[in-house]
Amino acid sequence: MRNRFILLILIALPLLIFSVKTYTYTIQSGDSLEKIANKLNIPLSIIIDYNPEYAYKKYIYAGKKLIIPEKPVIIYEVKSGDSLSYIAKTFFSDASLIAEYNNIKNPNLLYIGQKLEIPYEYIGLSFNKNVDVSWPVWGEITSLYGWRIHPIYKEKRFHSGIDIALSEGLPILSAVTGKVVEVKKDNGYGIYVKIKAGKHYYIFAHMSKALAVVGEIVKKGELIGRIGSTGISTGPHVHFEVRTLAERSIDPFNLLPGFKYAHVPIEKHYMGGN
Ligand SMILES: [Zn+2]
Repeated sequence: MRNRFILLILIALPLLIFSVKTYTYTIQSGDSLEKIANKLNIPLSIIIDYNPEYAYKKYIYAGKKLIIPEKPVIIYEVKSGDSLSYIAKTFFSDASLIAEYNNIKNPNLLYIGQKLEIPYEYIGLSFNKNVDVSWPVWGEITSLYGWRIHPIYKEKRFHSGIDIALSEGLPILSAVTGKVVEVKKDNGYGIYVKIKAGKHYYIFAHMSKALAVVGEIVKKGELIGRIGSTGISTGPHVHFEVRTLAERSIDPFNLLPGFKYAHVPIEKHYMGGN
């Protein structure tokens, strides 16, 4: 019995060490989420990550409380088959920086369930700033734009975007610099964010969480959501769709940079990066 108690403490300890401490902030009159983000010097997307219901709110009210993390980091739980370099790629980040921040001496020694802190400022570091439209995630392309046999309805349907699969909870970065025009929960698209930039709309669908608010200007490479499988979906992925301002979809490959702009070499159909 005593041994089991000690074992429980040993298991519980790392979780406590790695969970981010939070405090509450009471909304003041005259506050907007952007103002609060500036005041607390924390990215807006992190505030919404901790208070996900605020992604859909049109108004915020003085007196209501927000949960704010003391450190602007995203916690990533190590899964079977992960390596530090793979994790770094999915955050468009740098493995050595993540190792240093988490005090990891040997990057080959990660354990399943280990919680890594990924500072927000490290996310998107390797994003290509030299192209107009970037890959929003680093994952596997599982479905192209055009006619296909629908994976759920098993009939021929037009696929209005491309699907890129990767693990639940990983960051989705804005492919463009533009204005957030919609953040919604839809039966088909699940939780999605729609951004207007230049002559196009860009839609990122099936998120587990949207981390942007309507009216916000987001920069290319900024965190706008997390990977999920909401709506009509067979697994965690992002459906990335580009539309003209007349709401007609076009093939995202017409705008995305080629594979040569991927920040990592193509392994199978893995890509992303830029
Ligand atoms: Zn799709």
